[in-house]
Amino acid sequence: MPHLHKPLAKLAAWILLSAAALSLKLEPAQAQAGIVVENAKAEIVFGKTIAFSAKITAPIPIQQISLLFRGINETVTRVETVQFDADGNASFVYDASQNIFPPFSKIVFWYQATLADGNTYTSPQTEINYDDNRFAWRVNTRANISVHWYAGDDAFGAAALDAAGAGVIAFNNLYPVAFDQPLDVYIYSNADDLRSALPFGGTDWIGGHAHPENGVALAAIAPNDSQKIEMETILPHEIAHILMYRALGENYFKQPAWLLEGVASNMELYQNLGYDEALRDAASKNSLIPMQDLCASFPADSGSAYLAYAQAEAFIKYIRGAYGNGKIAALTGAYAEGLDCEIGVTKALGIPLNQLDQNWRETELGQNVFGATLKNLAPYLVLMALVLSVPIWGALDFLINRLRYGKK
Ligand SMILES: [Zn+2]
Repeated sequence: MPHLHKPLAKLAAWILLSAAALSLKLEPAQAQAGIVVENAKAEIVFGKTIAFSAKITAPIPIQQISLLFRGINETVTRVETVQFDADGNASFVYDASQNIFPPFSKIVFWYQATLADGNTYTSPQTEINYDDNRFAWRVNTRANISVHWYAGDDAFGAAALDAAGAGVIAFNNLYPVAFDQPLDVYIYSNADDLRSALPFGGTDWIGGHAHPENGVALAAIAPNDSQKIEMETILPHEIAHILMYRALGENYFKQPAWLLEGVASNMELYQNLGYDEALRDAASKNSLIPMQDLCASFPADSGSAYLAYAQAEAFIKYIRGAYGNGKIAALTGAYAEGLDCEIGVTKALGIPLNQLDQNWRETELGQNVFGATLKNLAPYLVLMALVLSVPIWGALDFLINRLRYGKK
């Protein structure tokens, strides 16, 4: 290019260099030609081991093989050097006993091999489902919702599906959100089975647990006379966490604990009568937890955690009654902007958190405790009437179709 001006020549050279760099990056086919990975497998013994194995071959000798893997929502990738024999049979056994990977999440893995020419080649990725395969799960699916259970009869599964559907409807009434992604509910028959699937024995005291990023809700519900009440309490709570995550994405993690747990607890279709007692008791002893202290997380010990849930539930109910349901989205919106716990309330409701906390205590837990209790029941009665009067599946189909056809 003799006639180009100097800056133009520089630019042309830069473009050529960039194109060269780009073409290197864009040639996975050539890179993969360096190694051939066959029979890439990961055998899961849930809560114990994940045995990765593959046959990896190359036209020239292999110096080293690494296995790389991570949970689909993790940002950190584990890298392990794997043993391999002369035929290229590689294997690595991962110790899964710490339950770092959530049950029913996805794990992605791939291999890298360094060959005798010093180049490192990367295989395509393989995705596996890290399912809790200790149990023979049955499944019942309708309108994007699947419930899975292993104890209990067909009626148990049908009741669970109805409770989950009612949870989706209830949440949508408070906080409209697209319901276009599958949602999976896994019902263990007892708390021990559930706890043994979770890293720290679970954080929700309620007998449920959600992995919102994975669209998975877990619950411990035994098949018995009270199964319906437990389903209609636990499932809407855990489903609310999932739908809130879908509404907010990563901004979910910027929300105060009292807001997330308060909204989820408001979705439970039965009032926890123990909450009122705990609130009255704490109010009389002046031992209510300042809402400020429930921003980052809830207390670890079960007694304080119970009071924290009771407060969060009543606090959100108070906000809904005093300011309107629409203010819940105003709150999550303020926190999504990154505002701190005190300021988020100020922006959404025009009053600082500590003042709102004070108003709630005075209004709902002041002198007229009995009246407050009756008043506290009202939103439940409305919600239950609403849920019971709406044909769940027709409404869900409507939600999904409205989305599908882009209607408002
Ligand atoms: Zn919760």
